[in-house]
Amino acid sequence: MNLPKTARLGLLAISMALGFAGAQAQSDDKVLNLYSARHYQTDEALYANFTKATGIRINRIDSDDAGVLTRLKNEGASSPADVVLLVDAARLVKAEQEGLFQPVKSATLESRIPAALRGTDAGKGAAWFGFSTRARVVVYNKATVKKEDVDTYAELGDPKNKGRVCTRSGSHPYNLSLFGSMVERMGAEKTEAWLKGVVDNMARAPKGGDTDQIKAVASGECQVGVTNSYYLARLMRSDKAEDRAVMEKVAVVFPDQQGAGTHVNVAGGAVAAHAKNRDAAVRFLEYLAGDEAQGYFANGNNEWPVARGVKLGNPALDALGDFKQESVPIAAIGANQAKVQQMLDRVGYK
Ligand code: FE
Repeated sequence: MNLPKTARLGLLAISMALGFAGAQAQSDDKVLNLYSARHYQTDEALYANFTKATGIRINRIDSDDAGVLTRLKNEGASSPADVVLLVDAARLVKAEQEGLFQPVKSATLESRIPAALRGTDAGKGAAWFGFSTRARVVVYNKATVKKEDVDTYAELGDPKNKGRVCTRSGSHPYNLSLFGSMVERMGAEKTEAWLKGVVDNMARAPKGGDTDQIKAVASGECQVGVTNSYYLARLMRSDKAEDRAVMEKVAVVFPDQQGAGTHVNVAGGAVAAHAKNRDAAVRFLEYLAGDEAQGYFANGNNEWPVARGVKLGNPALDALGDFKQESVPIAAIGANQAKVQQMLDRVGYK
């Protein structure tokens, strides 16, 4: 995420997104408790506009995906959480399986969000809803790397890329989901051999976030990196001279366009299992599926909206263009997580 470290270290620090002292004077149903793993500055406008439109104040509690889930589990039935936002499909699946969400039946959500981007629906509505997607792409140094050497995920583990590869921690949800998808594509045995190859190819031990990998590729410390698309798009749109310099050095490739397609992850949300303000929670999810919020995901945080017909006004997304996406079921990716973590431990992928 893009918060400074000090802010992230203060996990679960309560941030009153639109907090004001007079809040207690309002009735309880006018406050929505949001547990969020989204830490994108442009989301602030999203929350502010919901409050403006509905009069419902948002009390936001920030953590990462794992922190949100741990907190929900620890709090159990007494949890004040109404809405939960996570930034990884596998974590959404896991939370669903652990009973941390409650199903929501909503014609609005069903019409706006494709079925493949919703949680399990056992007749009472889906357990969660995807609101935006992001691709896991490869960046490479234009001066030292040929595109055809890095245009598949498999090649990241090929000896021809020895000493060139940088990634964030293998255990980060973004990577766990990519690797979980690879298990579906090529089986467990080949995936583990591939992961071993990636470790053997590393220019340095995994560290930092996705943006750090892009910068390291630009500086020449690494030649090839892996990043979520929106971190790249953010740099593409930046006016800062240092960001422009970074983007002059690197190029992007959507892996596996001739094969299974590029891995795509989902950020989404759900109504918490023990939500006290269920109606407001559903209203918030519906707001996130609306044109205005979908536009914020696209134009504010450079993600792809899930609703059809949302207009993109984003030059970076336009420049990234259309691409072939993988068609691996989200539930399968989620189911592979534990297996993948064991592989990472065995091959020494930190
Ligand atoms: Fe992120």
